[in-house]
Amino acid sequence: MKIAILSGKGGTGKTTLSVNLFSFLNKGTLIDTDVEEPNGHLFLKGELIKEESVLKKYPHVNDDLCTYCGKCGDFCNFNAIIPAKKKVLVFQDLYHDCGGCSLVCPTNAITYQDKEVGKIYYTQVSKNKLFLYGNLTVGEVSGVKIIEALKEKTENEELLIIDSPPGTSCSTVSAIDGADYCIICAEATPFGLSDMKMVVELLRAENQNFGVVVNKSNLGNDEIYHYLEEEHIELLEKIKFDREFARIMAQGELLINHSEYFKEKMANIARKVLGESYDQ
Ligand code: SF4
Ligand code: SF4
Repeated sequence: MKIAILSGKGGTGKTTLSVNLFSFLNKGTLIDTDVEEPNGHLFLKGELIKEESVLKKYPHVNDDLCTYCGKCGDFCNFNAIIPAKKKVLVFQDLYHDCGGCSLVCPTNAITYQDKEVGKIYYTQVSKNKLFLYGNLTVGEVSGVKIIEALKEKTENEELLIIDSPPGTSCSTVSAIDGADYCIICAEATPFGLSDMKMVVELLRAENQNFGVVVNKSNLGNDEIYHYLEEEHIELLEKIKFDREFARIMAQGELLINHSEYFKEKMANIARKVLGESYDQ
């Protein structure tokens, strides 16, 4: 089963939920797909067993073969290759690795070269538990390639938890693709509700099954609960805000190791999402 955990914005406690739920379970794999700001590794101790580069291909134009016909520029939807009068300009920030420009080039002037856009790190947390996270190279604008690589490496995992990037960008869409169930982590504030609604729209458009965990449930108001009821969205759990939780997390510790309350919350979520058969 593949479970994606997502949120409308950063700071809702999505990573807290991901690393604690993963740690609560007896086995499984967690991937941190928030590749622009990965932080799951701050809480999950283990042995770093492997790191891999994620490469992207960018076009290289042979000036001796190029006739400046303009066909590559016409083809590229991303304006990543623009033929000027005496030079074809390639914008590495914009290219999307589709391979189309070389297909339309009549003189075979375009070849591709590899560029590292990020890395994937593998950590063995315990015998039955693996944690992977991606890290986007500074200066790169899209983490989708790394997210796709993380998903590909773990596609055959029996139990996979996906810590998605916050928001509803293409990175989030890529992260939740193929998930069997999604958990939205939201706050009970007007902003939290508004952000959550965007995620609900996304998940409905993607035909995903989902439920909601309301974090910091003792702050804010009841609007979010009325909304969930009206929209027939399952409320999986409410988790209160506690200064002590913040202090524990700030030390890079897992809440399930320090709080029976939090551990019980993880057990309830696991039971609801995985069924009675979850292996704890
Ligand atoms: S399609 Fe090929 S020949 Fe035409 S401008 Fe682009 S690189 Fe040059
Ligand atoms: S590979 Fe695709 S995205 Fe990249 S420059 Fe060529 S046409 Fe544009």
